[in-house]
Amino acid sequence: MKLGLEGRTAVVMAASQGIGLASARGFHAAGANVAICARSQDALDEAAASMPGCLAMTADVTDEGGITAFIDAAQRRFGAVDVLVNNAGGPPPGSFSELDDAQWMQAFELTLMSAIRAARAVLPGMKARSWGRIVNISSFGVKQPVPNLTLSNSVRMAVLGWAKTLANQVGPDGITVNTVCPGWTRTARVEKLLAQQSRESGRTPAEIEAALVKDIPLRRTGVAEEVANLVVFLGSEAAAYMTGTAIAVDGGVSQGYA
Ligand code: NAD
Repeated sequence: MKLGLEGRTAVVMAASQGIGLASARGFHAAGANVAICARSQDALDEAAASMPGCLAMTADVTDEGGITAFIDAAQRRFGAVDVLVNNAGGPPPGSFSELDDAQWMQAFELTLMSAIRAARAVLPGMKARSWGRIVNISSFGVKQPVPNLTLSNSVRMAVLGWAKTLANQVGPDGITVNTVCPGWTRTARVEKLLAQQSRESGRTPAEIEAALVKDIPLRRTGVAEEVANLVVFLGSEAAAYMTGTAIAVDGGVSQGYA
Protein backbone atom coordinates (compact mmCIF):
# COMPACT_ATOMS: atom_id res chain seq x y z
CA MET A 1 0.00 0.00 0.00
CA LYS A 2 1.24 3.48 -0.88
CA LEU A 3 0.65 6.07 1.85
CA GLY A 4 1.57 8.99 -0.40
CA LEU A 5 2.99 11.01 2.47
CA GLU A 6 6.38 11.87 0.93
CA GLY A 7 6.81 15.65 0.95
CA ARG A 8 3.58 16.26 2.87
CA THR A 9 3.72 18.10 6.21
CA ALA A 10 2.19 16.67 9.38
CA VAL A 11 1.72 18.78 12.50
CA VAL A 12 1.28 16.70 15.63
CA MET A 13 0.07 18.51 18.75
CA ALA A 14 1.30 17.42 22.21
CA ALA A 15 3.89 14.99 20.91
CA SER A 16 6.95 14.86 23.17
CA GLN A 17 6.01 11.34 24.31
CA GLY A 18 3.35 8.64 24.10
CA ILE A 19 0.86 8.28 21.27
CA GLY A 20 1.59 11.76 19.87
CA LEU A 21 5.30 11.05 19.56
CA ALA A 22 4.70 7.60 18.07
CA SER A 23 2.41 9.20 15.48
CA ALA A 24 5.01 11.86 14.63
CA ARG A 25 7.61 9.12 14.18
CA GLY A 26 5.21 7.23 11.92
CA PHE A 27 4.72 10.25 9.65
CA HIS A 28 8.46 10.91 9.62
CA ALA A 29 9.20 7.30 8.67
CA ALA A 30 6.66 7.61 5.82
CA GLY A 31 8.60 10.55 4.37
CA ALA A 32 6.55 13.48 5.68
CA ASN A 33 7.92 16.70 7.17
CA VAL A 34 6.98 16.71 10.83
CA ALA A 35 6.33 19.45 13.38
CA ILE A 36 5.66 18.66 17.04
CA CYS A 37 4.82 20.74 20.09
CA ALA A 38 4.59 20.24 23.86
CA ARG A 39 5.25 22.40 26.89
CA SER A 40 8.86 21.40 27.70
CA GLN A 41 11.69 22.17 25.28
CA ASP A 42 13.94 19.53 26.88
CA ALA A 43 11.39 16.77 26.30
CA LEU A 44 10.79 18.06 22.76
CA ASP A 45 14.51 18.11 21.95
CA GLU A 46 14.82 14.51 23.11
CA ALA A 47 11.80 13.50 21.03
CA ALA A 48 12.98 15.38 17.93
CA ALA A 49 16.45 13.83 18.07
CA SER A 50 15.06 10.68 16.42
CA MET A 51 13.45 12.67 13.56
CA PRO A 52 15.99 14.65 11.50
CA GLY A 53 14.51 17.90 10.12
CA CYS A 54 11.64 17.88 12.61
CA LEU A 55 10.37 21.24 13.89
CA ALA A 56 9.98 20.99 17.67
CA MET A 57 8.51 24.05 19.34
CA THR A 58 7.08 24.71 22.80
CA ALA A 59 3.38 25.45 22.82
CA ASP A 60 0.69 24.79 25.38
CA VAL A 61 -2.38 23.46 23.57
CA THR A 62 -4.64 25.30 26.02
CA ASP A 63 -3.17 28.60 24.81
CA GLU A 64 -4.64 29.88 21.53
CA GLY A 65 -1.63 32.15 20.87
CA GLY A 66 0.74 29.22 21.39
CA ILE A 67 -1.20 27.04 18.95
CA THR A 68 -1.28 29.64 16.18
CA ALA A 69 2.40 30.57 16.66
CA PHE A 70 3.34 26.87 16.35
CA ILE A 71 1.20 26.26 13.27
CA ASP A 72 2.45 29.48 11.64
CA ALA A 73 6.04 28.35 12.29
CA ALA A 74 5.32 24.96 10.65
CA GLN A 75 3.74 26.70 7.66
CA ARG A 76 6.77 29.00 7.29
CA ARG A 77 9.29 26.14 7.67
CA PHE A 78 7.60 23.64 5.36
CA GLY A 79 5.39 25.81 3.14
CA ALA A 80 2.06 24.23 4.12
CA VAL A 81 0.35 22.03 6.67
CA ASP A 82 -1.34 19.03 5.05
CA VAL A 83 -2.08 16.90 8.11
CA LEU A 84 -3.15 18.02 11.58
CA VAL A 85 -3.12 15.52 14.43
CA ASN A 86 -5.00 16.86 17.43
CA ASN A 87 -3.67 15.45 20.67
CA ALA A 88 -3.37 16.65 24.27
CA GLY A 89 -2.81 15.20 27.70
CA GLY A 90 -5.91 13.52 29.10
CA PRO A 91 -8.09 15.38 31.62
CA PRO A 92 -7.57 14.15 35.21
CA PRO A 93 -9.73 11.33 36.62
CA GLY A 94 -12.34 12.03 39.28
CA SER A 95 -15.94 11.25 40.18
CA PHE A 96 -18.61 13.85 39.44
CA SER A 97 -18.91 14.99 43.05
CA GLU A 98 -15.20 15.87 43.22
CA LEU A 99 -15.20 18.15 40.17
CA ASP A 100 -15.71 21.91 40.25
CA ASP A 101 -16.41 24.36 37.42
CA ALA A 102 -12.74 25.29 37.05
CA GLN A 103 -11.83 21.65 36.35
CA TRP A 104 -14.66 21.31 33.83
CA MET A 105 -13.55 24.47 32.03
CA GLN A 106 -9.93 23.28 32.04
CA ALA A 107 -10.94 19.96 30.46
CA PHE A 108 -12.99 21.86 27.87
CA GLU A 109 -9.97 24.03 26.96
CA LEU A 110 -7.54 21.08 26.90
CA THR A 111 -9.64 18.57 24.97
CA LEU A 112 -12.16 20.45 22.83
CA MET A 113 -10.93 24.03 22.31
CA SER A 114 -7.36 22.90 21.54
CA ALA A 115 -8.65 20.86 18.59
CA ILE A 116 -11.01 23.59 17.40
CA ARG A 117 -8.32 26.28 17.51
CA ALA A 118 -5.71 24.15 15.73
CA ALA A 119 -8.22 23.20 13.03
CA ARG A 120 -9.12 26.87 12.56
CA ALA A 121 -5.44 27.65 11.99
CA VAL A 122 -4.84 24.94 9.35
CA LEU A 123 -8.16 24.86 7.47
CA PRO A 124 -7.69 27.97 5.26
CA GLY A 125 -4.48 26.50 3.78
CA MET A 126 -6.02 23.04 3.36
CA LYS A 127 -9.05 24.54 1.61
CA ALA A 128 -6.82 26.61 -0.70
CA ARG A 129 -4.98 23.42 -1.73
CA SER A 130 -8.13 21.23 -1.77
CA TRP A 131 -6.38 18.58 0.34
CA GLY A 132 -6.18 18.03 4.05
CA ARG A 133 -6.36 15.49 6.85
CA ILE A 134 -7.44 16.14 10.43
CA VAL A 135 -7.02 13.23 12.84
CA ASN A 136 -8.15 13.56 16.45
CA ILE A 137 -6.65 11.33 19.12
CA SER A 138 -9.50 10.57 21.51
CA SER A 139 -10.26 7.53 23.67
CA PHE A 140 -12.28 4.31 23.73
CA GLY A 141 -14.26 6.24 26.36
CA VAL A 142 -16.33 7.68 23.48
CA LYS A 143 -17.54 4.13 22.75
CA GLN A 144 -18.10 3.10 26.35
CA PRO A 145 -17.52 5.33 29.40
CA VAL A 146 -14.40 4.53 31.41
CA PRO A 147 -15.11 4.34 35.18
CA ASN A 148 -14.12 7.53 37.03
CA LEU A 149 -12.90 9.39 33.89
CA THR A 150 -15.86 11.78 34.19
CA LEU A 151 -14.21 14.73 32.44
CA SER A 152 -12.67 12.65 29.65
CA ASN A 153 -15.86 10.66 28.96
CA SER A 154 -17.90 13.87 28.76
CA VAL A 155 -15.74 16.38 26.90
CA ARG A 156 -14.48 13.86 24.32
CA MET A 157 -18.08 13.38 23.15
CA ALA A 158 -18.11 17.07 22.23
CA VAL A 159 -14.98 16.53 20.12
CA LEU A 160 -16.72 13.64 18.39
CA GLY A 161 -19.79 15.73 17.57
CA TRP A 162 -17.63 18.58 16.33
CA ALA A 163 -15.47 16.26 14.20
CA LYS A 164 -18.45 14.58 12.52
CA THR A 165 -20.07 17.93 11.78
CA LEU A 166 -16.81 19.39 10.46
CA ALA A 167 -16.29 16.31 8.25
CA ASN A 168 -19.63 17.08 6.56
CA GLN A 169 -18.68 20.72 6.05
CA VAL A 170 -15.14 20.32 4.67
CA GLY A 171 -15.57 17.09 2.69
CA PRO A 172 -16.33 19.04 -0.51
CA ASP A 173 -12.90 20.72 -0.10
CA GLY A 174 -11.04 17.39 -0.16
CA ILE A 175 -10.44 17.47 3.59
CA THR A 176 -11.14 14.47 5.82
CA VAL A 177 -11.74 14.49 9.58
CA ASN A 178 -11.42 11.28 11.57
CA THR A 179 -11.01 10.24 15.19
CA VAL A 180 -8.83 7.48 16.62
CA CYS A 181 -9.96 5.96 19.92
CA PRO A 182 -7.12 4.27 21.81
CA GLY A 183 -7.76 1.68 24.50
CA TRP A 184 -5.35 0.99 27.36
CA THR A 185 -2.00 1.88 25.82
CA ARG A 186 1.19 1.60 27.88
CA THR A 187 2.35 5.23 28.06
CA ALA A 188 3.23 7.64 30.88
CA ARG A 189 -0.49 8.50 31.14
CA VAL A 190 -1.45 4.90 31.91
CA GLU A 191 1.47 4.45 34.34
CA LYS A 192 0.11 7.50 36.21
CA LEU A 193 -3.46 6.16 36.29
CA LEU A 194 -2.24 2.76 37.55
CA ALA A 195 -0.16 4.45 40.28
CA GLN A 196 -3.14 6.57 41.35
CA GLN A 197 -5.49 3.56 41.51
CA SER A 198 -2.80 1.68 43.45
CA ARG A 199 -2.65 4.47 46.07
CA GLU A 200 -6.45 4.51 46.35
CA SER A 201 -6.97 0.74 46.52
CA GLY A 202 -3.85 -0.54 48.27
CA ARG A 203 -3.28 -3.03 45.41
CA THR A 204 -0.01 -3.00 43.43
CA PRO A 205 0.02 -1.46 39.91
CA ALA A 206 0.75 -4.98 38.56
CA GLU A 207 -2.35 -6.38 40.30
CA ILE A 208 -4.46 -3.56 38.90
CA GLU A 209 -3.11 -4.14 35.39
CA ALA A 210 -3.78 -7.89 35.65
CA ALA A 211 -7.41 -7.15 36.58
CA LEU A 212 -7.65 -4.62 33.74
CA VAL A 213 -6.46 -6.95 30.99
CA LYS A 214 -9.01 -9.63 32.01
CA ASP A 215 -11.63 -7.42 30.33
CA ILE A 216 -9.56 -6.91 27.15
CA PRO A 217 -10.24 -9.67 24.57
CA LEU A 218 -6.60 -9.51 23.40
CA ARG A 219 -5.53 -9.86 27.10
CA ARG A 220 -2.87 -7.13 27.08
CA THR A 221 -2.45 -3.38 27.01
CA GLY A 222 -1.47 -1.83 23.68
CA VAL A 223 1.65 0.07 22.70
CA ALA A 224 1.71 3.59 21.27
CA GLU A 225 2.85 2.43 17.82
CA GLU A 226 -0.30 0.30 17.44
CA VAL A 227 -2.41 3.44 17.78
CA ALA A 228 -0.01 5.54 15.69
CA ASN A 229 -0.35 3.11 12.76
CA LEU A 230 -4.01 4.11 12.37
CA VAL A 231 -3.27 7.82 12.92
CA VAL A 232 -0.72 7.75 10.08
CA PHE A 233 -3.02 5.77 7.78
CA LEU A 234 -5.91 8.21 8.33
CA GLY A 235 -3.49 11.08 7.70
CA SER A 236 -2.41 9.61 4.38
CA GLU A 237 -3.55 9.64 0.76
CA ALA A 238 -4.44 5.96 1.18
CA ALA A 239 -7.36 6.87 3.47
CA ALA A 240 -8.85 9.33 0.95
CA TYR A 241 -12.37 7.84 1.10
CA MET A 242 -12.68 7.78 4.89
CA THR A 243 -14.15 10.69 6.78
CA GLY A 244 -16.32 11.27 9.84
CA THR A 245 -15.24 7.98 11.43
CA ALA A 246 -14.29 7.21 15.03
CA ILE A 247 -12.26 4.00 15.12
CA ALA A 248 -11.15 2.12 18.22
CA VAL A 249 -7.65 0.64 18.59
CA ASP A 250 -8.39 -0.97 21.92
CA GLY A 251 -7.76 -4.71 21.86
CA GLY A 252 -11.53 -5.18 21.66
CA VAL A 253 -12.27 -3.73 25.10
CA SER A 254 -15.15 -1.44 24.08
CA GLN A 255 -18.36 -3.41 23.62
CA GLY A 256 -20.30 -1.30 21.11
CA TYR A 257 -20.50 -2.52 17.47
CA ALA A 258 -19.09 0.64 15.88
P1 NAD B 1 0.97 10.99 27.56
O1 NAD B 1 0.62 11.61 28.87
O2 NAD B 1 1.96 9.88 27.53
O3 NAD B 1 1.45 12.10 26.53
C1 NAD B 1 0.76 13.33 26.42
C2 NAD B 1 1.58 14.31 25.61
O4 NAD B 1 0.89 15.56 25.62
C3 NAD B 1 2.96 14.61 26.20
O5 NAD B 1 3.87 14.83 25.17
C4 NAD B 1 2.73 15.90 27.00
O6 NAD B 1 3.90 16.64 27.16
C5 NAD B 1 1.76 16.59 26.07
N1 NAD B 1 0.88 17.57 26.71
C6 NAD B 1 0.09 17.39 27.77
N2 NAD B 1 -0.59 18.53 28.04
C7 NAD B 1 -0.18 19.46 27.13
C8 NAD B 1 -0.50 20.82 26.91
N3 NAD B 1 -1.37 21.48 27.68
N4 NAD B 1 0.11 21.45 25.88
C9 NAD B 1 1.00 20.81 25.10
N5 NAD B 1 1.34 19.52 25.27
C10 NAD B 1 0.76 18.86 26.28
O7 NAD B 1 -0.44 10.53 26.96
P2 NAD B 1 -0.79 9.36 25.92
O8 NAD B 1 -0.99 8.10 26.68
O9 NAD B 1 0.14 9.39 24.77
O10 NAD B 1 -2.27 9.82 25.48
C11 NAD B 1 -2.51 10.74 24.47
C12 NAD B 1 -4.00 11.03 24.45
O11 NAD B 1 -4.73 9.81 24.28
C13 NAD B 1 -4.49 11.63 25.78
O12 NAD B 1 -5.51 12.55 25.55
C14 NAD B 1 -5.03 10.42 26.50
O13 NAD B 1 -6.00 10.76 27.46
C15 NAD B 1 -5.62 9.64 25.34
N6 NAD B 1 -5.78 8.24 25.67
C16 NAD B 1 -4.72 7.51 26.11
C17 NAD B 1 -4.93 6.20 26.46
C18 NAD B 1 -3.80 5.36 26.98
O14 NAD B 1 -4.07 4.24 27.44
N7 NAD B 1 -2.57 5.79 26.90
C19 NAD B 1 -6.20 5.63 26.37
C20 NAD B 1 -7.25 6.39 25.91
C21 NAD B 1 -7.03 7.71 25.56
